[in-house]
Order: sequence, then structure tokens, then C-alpha cells
Amino acid sequence: MRSPSPEARMAAKLRAKENSGGTPSSLDAWMAGKLSGADAALPLPRRVETAQLAALRRLLRYLSGYSPFYARRLAGHNPDLADLDDMARLPCTDSTHLREWRDFLCVSQGDIQRMVSLRTSGTSGSPKRLAFTEKDLAATRDFFRVGLSELTSPGERLAVLLPGAERPDGVADQIRQALSSLDIRVESPAHARIAGEQDTPESLADWVGQGKFHCLVAAPMQLRTLLHFFPQAPPPLRSVLAGADSLDPGLGLTLRAAWACDLRDHYGLTESGYGLAVECAAHDGYHMRALDIFTEILDVESDAPLPPGCPGEVVITTLGREAMPLLRYRTGDLSSLLPGPCRCGSPMPRLGPIMGRIERSPGQPPRLTRPPKGARSGAMEDL
Ligand SMILES: [Zn+2]
Repeated sequence: MRSPSPEARMAAKLRAKENSGGTPSSLDAWMAGKLSGADAALPLPRRVETAQLAALRRLLRYLSGYSPFYARRLAGHNPDLADLDDMARLPCTDSTHLREWRDFLCVSQGDIQRMVSLRTSGTSGSPKRLAFTEKDLAATRDFFRVGLSELTSPGERLAVLLPGAERPDGVADQIRQALSSLDIRVESPAHARIAGEQDTPESLADWVGQGKFHCLVAAPMQLRTLLHFFPQAPPPLRSVLAGADSLDPGLGLTLRAAWACDLRDHYGLTESGYGLAVECAAHDGYHMRALDIFTEILDVESDAPLPPGCPGEVVITTLGREAMPLLRYRTGDLSSLLPGPCRCGSPMPRLGPIMGRIERSPGQPPRLTRPPKGARSGAMEDL
């Protein structure tokens, strides 16, 4: 009898791990480490909620003191939160407000390390911008390091293919800095590109094929292209993190079967500081960076907070962000919190898959749209 191929052994190992639950997401250990001063006898979700409440109270004081936009918006609201449910009485923010980005700023322009312009529909009006300090970017790097350390090991090579990721202080740079202490070499196609030259599907596939990468960080469209060139994973590839756009479940299944690799999806927005939530090996929802971002699911019409299992709009509040904190920011993405613990063993709440987009027009009720395959949803713009 022939022994199974390395790919088949890898696929069997992954299936066994998924079915047995595997190890709890390393995000849990990361968060528990940050909460080492808290009452260790309490379950992790309770400790995280206590830390979130303290951070939200600090945030409200910070916003009232330093952000002209939120000082106006919070005027007349009692800034003392009794508990997390109390967040429901505070106003939401949406992307249209980001045109007033200067009024969101809580730091001087000299303290801004990275400024990002968001894509907008139409050409009128001032641009929507987001600003990050070095500390804001460092918090995202920390999340990247923990999430990617499950997919790579010291001495390995990782490629960041996300479009635009190689901009100074962009996602490739952040990942490179995040993984430098782990002895993981991070490359992006820009390294091999002649100035001004654009990637073609062929040049991207060539570069990936020759790079001998163990891990790819790529957008779903790029993965679809690479699948066309590589019916089997280009060796020694063993893991893939999908980001920037929503991963079509069909493409995910096809890739996992064809490449026999550990493929995980990531959900994040520029507004969340790029990273927000990532799948674990059990593929049972997206584990959130709950100490950096407080996530709510709100009824699309009434704004009432919804319990796990009920789909609504993903609304985020940044915790500890210096430059431009966001309070109850409507992402426009439709999802739900998943009930119960993850199959990996983590007791932490997770985000479910993004099911569609919520479009709002002045004077009109919110409209739900299901994005076509590969369309933007929960996207990171201007990486
Ligand atoms: Zn999990």
C-alpha cells in the first residue's frame, strides 16, 4: 500500500484538528497575559468585559477632553457608564462623519505616524481620513504577531500580496515589524518589481512560485488567480491568511482541498486599525481583539443591541486608540455574534461571517445588499 502524500497527511491532520477542537486560539492566551493583574479565578470573558468597561470609561473622558467632534456629540450625555449595556444610550458614528476628520483628532498633527484616505463614492465633499499614532500602529502589530504566529514558525518565509500593502507604514511593513522578533522573513512583490511596473497575474504567480514561501497573506481575488496557476500549493506553502475582502466560502473550500493548507480568513477595516478578527484552526467564527475593540451588533433599523445569533450591523468602538478613537462606529457590515464557545475550546465571543452590506441614504430606510463574490465587505482600504 502506498503511503499518503505529504499533502494528504497535512489535510488529514487539519481535519483531525478541526474535528477534535484543537488548541484554543492564541488570542485568548494573549489577552489573558494582558489581564494578568485581574482576578484569575474569573472566566476570561468576564475579565475581558471588566477591562472593556474600564477602557470605555477612560475613552469617554478622553473623547470629551480631546476630540472636538465627540465633545459636541457627547454633550448632554451622562459620561458615566454603569455597565457595558449602558453603551446603548450613546450616539453612533458613521463614515460620513469622517469628512470632519480634523475634529476627530485627539493628538497634534505632528504626532500622527500614518494618515489614510478612505475611498468614497462620488467626488464631491472633503475626503474621509483616518489617522494613527505610532502607538496605534503598534497595537495592530501586536494583534498581527499573535494571529500570524499560529500560521508561521521561526526561520520561515511569509509573503504579503495585498494590493498596496507595501506603502510606507502599510500592512506589509506592519507585518514585517510584527514578525521581525520571531525570525520570520516577510516579503512583498514590490521588492521584486521594477519601479512603476504593475503586477500581472503571471508575474505574481512567478514571484510566488520562486519565493519558496511558507505562508501567504493575500486578498481572495489574488488567491483565486493563484489557484489558476497552482492546482497544488507551491511548495513549501503550508498556510494562508485571507484578508482585505470577504472570502467566498466556496473559494475557501476549494483552496483548502486543492492546497491542503491551513487557510484562515481575517476580518478587518481601516477604521479598526486594519486588524479586527481572525479565524482559528477550528473555523468556527472570527476571534476578536476584544481588548482593543469593543464590538456590538445592532438592529439595523432600531439600533437596539442584539444578542448572539441575531444578525445586525457590526458597530465598533476603539479602545486605547490615541489619534482618532471611534465611538460606536457603524461598519456597514451585516453579521452576528456566535453563541456558545468556539470548537477550538475558547469561551470568548466570536463574530460570525459577514452576510452582507447595509446601505444608508438620507431619508431612506436602511437597505441590505449581499455583496457579489469578491466585492468589498469589511475591507481594508488604502493599505
Ligand atoms: Zn476558535
